Amino acid sequence: MMRSTSRTHGSKKEQRSRGLLSREKKENNNDHKPCTKHKTLIAEDVENMFQEPYTLTGYRLSNQPWSYYIASLWWVHNETVNVWTHLIGCVLLVVHAVYLGMRLDRFRDSRAGLMVVFALTCFFCNLFSSLAHLLHTKSAKHHYVLFFVDYAGIFIYLFGSCFYTLYMCSSPEQYLAVKLFFLPTAMIACYMSFVAFLLARLKFQKVEHQWKRKVLMVCVILMLMTIILPITGRYVGCFQDEGCSVKSQSLITVVFVFLVLQGVSFTAMLPERVRPGTFDIWGHSHQWFHVLVTGTQQLQLHALHVDYVERGRAAHVDTPLSSLLVTLGLLMAMQAVTIRLVTPAIERKVAEGPTTVGSESGEVLGKSDGAELIDQHGESEL
Ligand SMILES: [Zn+2]
Repeated sequence: MMRSTSRTHGSKKEQRSRGLLSREKKENNNDHKPCTKHKTLIAEDVENMFQEPYTLTGYRLSNQPWSYYIASLWWVHNETVNVWTHLIGCVLLVVHAVYLGMRLDRFRDSRAGLMVVFALTCFFCNLFSSLAHLLHTKSAKHHYVLFFVDYAGIFIYLFGSCFYTLYMCSSPEQYLAVKLFFLPTAMIACYMSFVAFLLARLKFQKVEHQWKRKVLMVCVILMLMTIILPITGRYVGCFQDEGCSVKSQSLITVVFVFLVLQGVSFTAMLPERVRPGTFDIWGHSHQWFHVLVTGTQQLQLHALHVDYVERGRAAHVDTPLSSLLVTLGLLMAMQAVTIRLVTPAIERKVAEGPTTVGSESGEVLGKSDGAELIDQHGESEL
């Protein structure tokens, strides 16, 4: 159950001091301890920033050697399924792309190139996400940096989805009208959305900034909706054509149903919201979100092949493969530079230490005994 964080905790000074003491206690719990194999912690024993909404157990230790986190790939904790769902997604993408590439002339057919570049954007998304979930509990600084890399992967994939809709779904008229500026516009929109997410995470976490975060998110959603507008071309064209059945659009419709389901699973936080602690290891909404992302990507690739190659729906488009690669490379380079530039801000934020439980707004983490924990960053990871 969600509710506001209006509990009283004494004066701000007392709260701050309790927060610092609690942080020291947690650090002492985790630092320099001989790492008991496969030991996991309850939420109260880890830094607030590592706590996930409605997840009460299964946390790994922080401040351990890298080998500890890499080895954790093979044992069960509350990130195991998140890591593996996207690692399996990476393997499926490679297999699917190779299979489709073999059915086309890989060197002469530019459509094969388009599929490979789209699969590559999906691959980066899954790989960065797996790495973030696997390694982020190393330290507060790594937590921020790795999830910013995760955000980068998400927006690389969204950029892939943008050119996907242009080449797959635009009508000939739409394509002619937008083809010159669509790619750079999509790239800039994805980059700006990425920066907005970074800023929201770094700067707008306090209760007085909640409205700014919401405005930012609305801007991002509006921007991305504008970018995927080419999809309307397929449906409008079909409705205007008496010989066209809406059933013929079924593949692309299913893709969009999956995209909506992704949004629902990410925001609803079900089923863990109803029974906090029950789905810490298996069945958490974020795991379903990962599965849906992987499923959507597979469907997109399949639809790309069927509609674009076999049915020739996009015969009017020419695929500027070199422009695509250059634009994708530029987006990734700008993201890498941005993460490097915000690293000092991350270090400052980490040095400030955690804010006191209850002093800032955030998600309420349900507990089976009716008590609460507060998720200070107030959002779930991607
Ligand atoms: Zn994730």
